[in-house]
Amino acid sequence: MARASAAYYATRDPFADFTTAPEISQVFGELLGLWAAVTWQSLGSPAPVSFVEAGPGRGTLMADALRAIGRAVPAFGAAATVHLIETSPRLRAEQRQRIAAAVWHDSIDTVPETPMILLGNEFLDALPIRQFVRRGSGWTERFVSPQGWIEEPSDYHPAIDAAEGGIFERREAAETLAAGIAARVVRHRGAALFLDYGPERSQTGDSLQAIAGGRPADPLGPPSEADLTAHVDFAAFGAAARAVGAQVWGPVAQGLFLARLGLFRRTNQLARHRQPREAAAMMEGARRLGEPDRMGRLFKAIALVSPDIEVLPGFE
Ligand code: SAH
Repeated sequence: MARASAAYYATRDPFADFTTAPEISQVFGELLGLWAAVTWQSLGSPAPVSFVEAGPGRGTLMADALRAIGRAVPAFGAAATVHLIETSPRLRAEQRQRIAAAVWHDSIDTVPETPMILLGNEFLDALPIRQFVRRGSGWTERFVSPQGWIEEPSDYHPAIDAAEGGIFERREAAETLAAGIAARVVRHRGAALFLDYGPERSQTGDSLQAIAGGRPADPLGPPSEADLTAHVDFAAFGAAARAVGAQVWGPVAQGLFLARLGLFRRTNQLARHRQPREAAAMMEGARRLGEPDRMGRLFKAIALVSPDIEVLPGFE
C-alpha cells in the first residue's frame, strides 16, 4: 500500500479527486501560519528555525501561512527557513510556483537539526497501513493479491478487543514519524501540528477507502489510479511520541480548534470587503471546515511538542 499511495500521488492530480481544507478556505492556512508564529514566540523566538510542512499538496497552505506570517509576525518569517517534505515530482513543481524560497526533502531525515515548527494536513492518512483480522484466539494479517484479499498468520497481536473477523489497522510509518519528530523536538525544541481524520481512541474497523475521479473506488484496483486513505489512529500516534519524551496535546476536534484560532472572526472580516456572492462562499467554506457534521468533528488536531512549551494556541 505504501507504493500504491506514492505511485498515485506521483502520477495523478489528487486534487481532481478530493478537496482538502486549505483548498476550501484561505483562512485555514492563515490560521495555521499564525499558530506557528505564536508557538515560535512561546519558544523564545529561536533563530534559525526550520518551518516545515509534511505533504504540502499544491502548496496552498504554506503560501497562505507565509502571507499571514509576513503581515503579523515578520520576525518569524525572517528567522525561518521553509522545508517541504514531498515525494511527488509533479506536486513539487506546483509547490515551487506558489512558494518562493523553500528546500525540498523526501523525508524528515534531511531537514536540518534546529528548533522546528512543523505542519501536516491530511498527510498521515496517506501513509500506508497494515490490516490485522481477529481469527479465533489470535490474529491474521490480510494482504492484497491478484485473487483479492488473502490472510496469513501474524506474529503481531494488536492490544485491542475485537469480535471474530474484526479488523485492526496499524500505521507503522506514522508511529515511526511520531517518534522521530518527538526525538527532534526534545533535542532541539519545537512543535509539530497534524490535522487529519480519525477517532480519538484506537478502534477496530475497516476504514480503507479508495477515491478515484471524486467517487469511491475499489481499493483492490490498479494502485496508481485511486487515492488510498484510512483513518488515523491518534492514540497510537500520540503514544509513539510520548514514549520518546515529547508532550502530546490533543487530539482536539478541528471545528473547536479552528474556532479557537479565530476561523469565524477572520472569515467575517474578509467577507465584509467582498461582493455578497463571494462573501457567502467564504462563510460557507468556514462552516464546512468547522461544523461538527461536516469536517469539524471527524477531523482532529494533535500536536507533538517539546517539554518546555507551556501554552499552545487552540489546545487551551
Ligand atoms: N497537505 C495538502 C495535501 C494532502 S495530500 C492539503 O491539505 O491539501 C497528501 C500529500 O502528502 C501530498 O502532497 C502527497 O504527495 C504527499 N505524500 C504522500 N505520501 C508521502 C510520503 N510518504 N512522503 C512524503 N510526502 C508524501
